[in-house]
Amino acid sequence: MILLDGKHIAAQIRSELRTEVEALTANGRRVPHLAVIIVGENPASVTYVNNKIRACQDVGIEADVIALSDNISQEKLLLEVERLNANPSIDGYIVQLPLPEHINETDIIRAIDPMKDVDGLHPYNVGLTAFGLPSIVSATPKGIRELLARYDIQTEGKHVVVIGRSNIVGKPMAMLLMQRPYLALSKTASAALGDATVTVCHSKTRNLKELCLTADIIIVAVGQPCLLTADMVRKGAVVIDVGINRVPALATERGYRLVGDVDFKLVSKKCSYITPVPGGVGPMTITSLLQNTLQAYMMNNSQ
Ligand code: NAD
Repeated sequence: MILLDGKHIAAQIRSELRTEVEALTANGRRVPHLAVIIVGENPASVTYVNNKIRACQDVGIEADVIALSDNISQEKLLLEVERLNANPSIDGYIVQLPLPEHINETDIIRAIDPMKDVDGLHPYNVGLTAFGLPSIVSATPKGIRELLARYDIQTEGKHVVVIGRSNIVGKPMAMLLMQRPYLALSKTASAALGDATVTVCHSKTRNLKELCLTADIIIVAVGQPCLLTADMVRKGAVVIDVGINRVPALATERGYRLVGDVDFKLVSKKCSYITPVPGGVGPMTITSLLQNTLQAYMMNNSQ
């Protein structure tokens, strides 16, 4: 079994990004600039946002946090979004999800300028991705595709089972893997991945185990510890664990530890490649956000 070391690959990509950003400043250009809107103080969201800001600083991308109260009205939040759309010094921005219940997430996402939508969630970018055209791709699926590419794991003709149908992971992941690659139009090797036969499973899927047993690659994004057990995995399969779950661990300082959706201990004995949690998909997701920010900068400052 080979561990798909997202932390290591993310560090490699960040070093490449640092070089690209340094080249911009060496040529007298300003550095790319990301903004992150966070509404409220959800502890997991605060941690994610801090990690994103640190990652930006690590590669030389300027980053601002716009922290808003959790009782902000939808109208006021939309005004913040419009302000960022109109600000020429902001190349890209994200609105950290989830948002409080009184705010309609879809309305907020639709208000983001698609050219600054570095989370790749705007219907315009999702549509381009669905068409198999170059777009700003949702960070987690983009990171997984990059991880597969950097370990030279081919997807052509493979059966991929994606468990979870969310707009941020499951659906875009399935779209990327089923489409014909657009390598000719893209600089990155990961864009060559695709041409897989994809099955998307979800909470109403009846024969999850049988479907998983026919998979060459299984990608799990559910949010349930030990959802994927060893009896569901064919020997030699590739397993990508997207889940991030906090389970109580009284002996630790934080009182919890992070686990994925896969029964790692037993599944890792059967598969050929597997991502750990933490240190697998998570660092790749943040790195994709940095890549998307640089992509938006290039698109918006092309002349
Ligand atoms: P979500 O909560 O929006 O959706 C969960 C999906 O799981 C749904 O589509 C549902 O149909 C499916 N599901 C629920 N129970 C199921 C079952 N028993 N069998 C099969 N499918 C089932 O999910 P999300 O936002 O995609 O997040 C999923 C997990 O991935 C969470 O743990 C989240 O924290 C994590 N996540 C990690 C990263 C990362 O960078 N590592 C990024 C995004 C999400």
